[in-house]
Amino acid sequence: MVRPAKPRYVQDEPRFGYFKPKGIPLRELEEERLSVEELEALRLIDIECLYQEEAAARMEVSRPTFHRILKDARAKVTRCLIEGKALGIEGGNYILAGDTRIFACFSCGHEWNEPFGSGIRACESTCPACGGKTVRRADCKGRRARAPGRACERSNPGQETQEETVTRGSD
Ligand SMILES: [Zn+2]
Repeated sequence: MVRPAKPRYVQDEPRFGYFKPKGIPLRELEEERLSVEELEALRLIDIECLYQEEAAARMEVSRPTFHRILKDARAKVTRCLIEGKALGIEGGNYILAGDTRIFACFSCGHEWNEPFGSGIRACESTCPACGGKTVRRADCKGRRARAPGRACERSNPGQETQEETVTRGSD
């Protein structure tokens, strides 16, 4: 199994960690394991009623990745309901996120809050203070934000991230 390089953003830790069919001893039951990010995918779609695209943005994964997480999660829960398996919820590859994210500008050091789930990525943001394009998340708990040089590969393909090389087109 390949461990995904990027952790998924999850709003909260699960409140309930284990479910089992009534009246059958646990030792007689088979078990499914739902990861915390799989539970989050179910929550975003079935409780918050988001579109998959929005839900993917919240967890900061691509839409196909989100679709796969959701599909796996639903299959596990359904197997528990149909086949009478126990369901344990724990672990995974995730980062807890609050209601807001803190973005920080590498150029001027300005920090600001961005609502969680707005779908705006740090790497695609512009600093509201100086207009700088090198923005990172400053609130990744227990993890270092990405280095400035590789702030985002997606948003400016083939374009070097040169510090402060502001070239004005008209002069
Ligand atoms: Zn700035």
